[in-house]
This record gives sequence, structure tokens and C-alpha cells, in this order.
Amino acid sequence: MQLPVYMDSHATTPCDPRVVEAMLPTFTKMFGNAASRDHAFGWEAEALVEQARDRVADLLGADPTEIVFTSGATESDNLAIKGVAGVYGGKGRHVITCQTEHEAVLETCRSLEAGGFEVTRLPVQPDGLIRPGELAAAIRDDTILVSIMYANNEIGVIQPIGEIGRLCKARGVLFHCDAVQAMDWVAIDARVLGIDLLSISGHKMHGPKGVGALYARRRGPRVRLQPQMSGGGHERGLRSGTLNVPGIVGLGKAAEIAAAQREEDGRRVRGLRDRLLDAITSRLPKVVVNGSLERRLPNNLHLSFPGIRAETMLKGMRDLAVSSGAACASATQEPSHVLRALGVPDELAECSLRFGLHRFTTPEEVAFAADQVVRTVQRLREKSPRASIDI
Ligand SMILES: *Cc1c(COP(=O)(O)O)cnc(C)c1O
Repeated sequence: MQLPVYMDSHATTPCDPRVVEAMLPTFTKMFGNAASRDHAFGWEAEALVEQARDRVADLLGADPTEIVFTSGATESDNLAIKGVAGVYGGKGRHVITCQTEHEAVLETCRSLEAGGFEVTRLPVQPDGLIRPGELAAAIRDDTILVSIMYANNEIGVIQPIGEIGRLCKARGVLFHCDAVQAMDWVAIDARVLGIDLLSISGHKMHGPKGVGALYARRRGPRVRLQPQMSGGGHERGLRSGTLNVPGIVGLGKAAEIAAAQREEDGRRVRGLRDRLLDAITSRLPKVVVNGSLERRLPNNLHLSFPGIRAETMLKGMRDLAVSSGAACASATQEPSHVLRALGVPDELAECSLRFGLHRFTTPEEVAFAADQVVRTVQRLREKSPRASIDI
């Protein structure tokens, strides 16, 4: 076993070696510009990009013409939300999202507000899920877009996406879904789920950083988007800029692997995650699981250890890379907006850790992680016996 052990996969995942292998020739031998129409280097690069597009489309049950490559999910979220606002803003100026969304969605919605749009941020129940009834009640005649994530990047809970899609269809509202965290673990058919726009990111699915995609439906209805980048008109005019061929090839390979082994990976990683939970809770009293355990990604665990600050824990276990559950949402040190939305008090939020397993996590690593956590908490509780009974 290699130390330190990595369990922060909601921040980023290790690249699958098969992805790296697929990318390597695109740096040296097949380095053409995919937009070069005049020679073999360009044609070859274009063929690689189109193969990747097919693979991403297959993973989503989409048509290849519905896939736009971007620099990552932050850009995909921006293009989806601002792109819809730009085209449909004349029809209505109301957008609905959720309090526990990623900053890429929340900040983009804030920028719409600055431009005169109104944004409703749905609350969540203590288990982290929105109530579809509250969404139905929030939809108005001037609502043009609903943006709700598939799975949360902090607590891993999976929203009722099919129901949300049906509600949006019934009311003629476009539905954008940030599905970044779900791609390696959940079977997603955008059409069946009623999703009109969907964001993915390479580095959250064992692919490379700096590349992502936006699915934008072209039939029933055709979603129109205002481009957010001016230039040479790449990607059907939706996203100008020379294509990141190495990244796109890597994303395509990552999508192909996900489609092939998602189910098996999910079963195995869920087993490991359950073992991690059991190994911690069977040896430590008063551990709190944040968010629904049932409706959750197989690779996520988010735990609070009352009275033991995450910062202090992390200092005591340098060989385990996990994220402090409270301050992981962004580069700022604000308490997590996700835990706040769940109603978790700040002092408990500060005592939480987020575990993110990945495709290559081993049973040994899980045993090591559980051991590190249990020993560290026990040691800290002995040091200040009052701490464990405070909350
Ligand atoms: C990481 C993440 C993003 C941002 O993706 P990038 O490709 O890093 O820009 C957006 N949404 C969610 C849910 C994420 O986890």
C-alpha cells in the first residue's frame, strides 16, 4: 500500500492509466489541430475528437451532435445557465436552483440576478434531498430554467432527477443537471430522465483535468444557447477556441470505461464504503452520517465526530488524504453551505470529514483509513474528555 492514501475523490480522481495511454500519442504524433481542414494531421485529430464525442454521447444516451466540449464543468454550467438566459430571457426571467448546488451553478445564478433575473433557491430536507412538490410549487409562468444537480459533491446524495425531469417537461421549463459526480457510478439516460442540458467533467471521472462537456438536447425540444465565448465558431458555434484534443480524447476514453464497468465498479466501491462506515461506527460512538445513506453515491461518506474539530483530526493523520467536511465547498474558508442547508449546526459541521473513494481504492486502504480515523478520534477524545459530550 502506498502512503498517503487518497480518499478525496469528490475534489478530483486519479487518471485511469488507460486514459493516459489513449492521450499520449496526441501530444507528439497526432498533434494536429482538429479544425485544420487542409491536411492529414487535422483530419486525424478531428477523427479522434469525433470518436470521443461518440463515446461521451453513448454514456448519456445522447446523439453525438448534442455534445459540446468545454474546459470543464464550471464552463459547462456557465454555458448552460447563461446560454439559456441569453436566448430565453425574453420569454421569462425566473430560474430555479437549489441551496446545495456547486458554486459553479450558484455563482452563475448570482450573476443572472445582477442582470435582472430572479432566482429561487429551493431548500433541502435534513437528508439533503429537495421535495419535488416544492419544485412544482416554485415553477411560475415566467420560469425558463431549473438547474438541479444529480449528486452532491459534498454529501453524495442523489436528487430525484426523473421526477424533476417530468415536472419540468409538464410545465415546459428547461432542465439543466450538473451530473459531474455521478458519471462513474450511475446509469444516466438524459432523454429518459427528461434532462435538457447536462454538465460533466473529465477529472471527476478518472479522466484529465481541464476538459468537460455539455449535453444540449437537439430534439423535443431543441435547446438553443447563447455562446459565451466569441471566436472561430468551433463546436457548432457554441464554444469557440481550438479544441483540447488530448483532453477530449482522455474524456472520451474515461466515458468508454465508465460505460463498460460502472455497474461492477459501483458494487465493489459501495461494499468498500459500507465497510469503511462499519469499521468507524462499530468502534466509535456518536458518529453522525450527514445526508441520506440510501440515496447516495456508492463512493461517498460524510461523517461528523461531535466535539472533535476536523482541522485537528487532519493534523493527526497526515497519511490519509480526506477533506474537512465543512470548508471544502470552495477556495474560501466559509462553513459549508451544503451542511447549513441540511440544518447541521456550524459547530457540528466543523467536526466533519468527507471521504471519497475511487475506482482504484483497495480494501487495505479502507482498513487503513478507518484505523487512522478511529485512533485519531480516540486520542483526541482522551485528551479532552469533555469534547465528546458537548454536542
Ligand atoms: C468539480 C465540480 C464542478 C466543477 O468542475 P470543473 O471541471 O473542475 O470545473 C462542478 N460541479 C460539481 C458538482 C463538481 O463536483
